[in-house]
Formats: sequence, structure tokens, C-alpha cells
Amino acid sequence: MSVSGNCEICVTGEVSHTCSRCAQMVCDEHFDEETGLCVECLSDVGGRGERQPENMPDGVDTYRF
Ligand SMILES: [Zn+2]
Ligand SMILES: [Zn+2]
Repeated sequence: MSVSGNCEICVTGEVSHTCSRCAQMVCDEHFDEETGLCVECLSDVGGRGERQPENMPDGVDTYRF
């Protein structure tokens, strides 16, 4: 068990980030810099890659000033 080294998700990538939620050490590919989360936490909290609920207000074709 090494302190640092390989990504805990893919086990092949070199660790370059630490998840701010689970403290898992992950490589660049399995880390989202925008949220500071690893991909596991990211999908857990419903980030990118997950389908978003279509509850957006329909203000797209309505321009009210
Ligand atoms: Zn990885
Ligand atoms: Zn995480």
C-alpha cells in the first residue's frame, strides 16, 4: 500500500489530484478540476456525465424585459 503513486480508480494513471470529498488520490483523467472531485464523487453528486433533469424553466424563446 503506497502513499502516493497510481490513481485509485484506474490504478495505472499517475496521481496528480486528491478528491476534496473522499480524499481519494486520482489521476488527471479521473479528476474534475471544476468541482475538485474525483469522477466517482462527481457522478455521486450528479455532475457532468450524468443526465440532468429537464426541469429548466422555459425562458429560451420568451424574451421579457
Ligand atoms: Zn485514473
Ligand atoms: Zn471522490
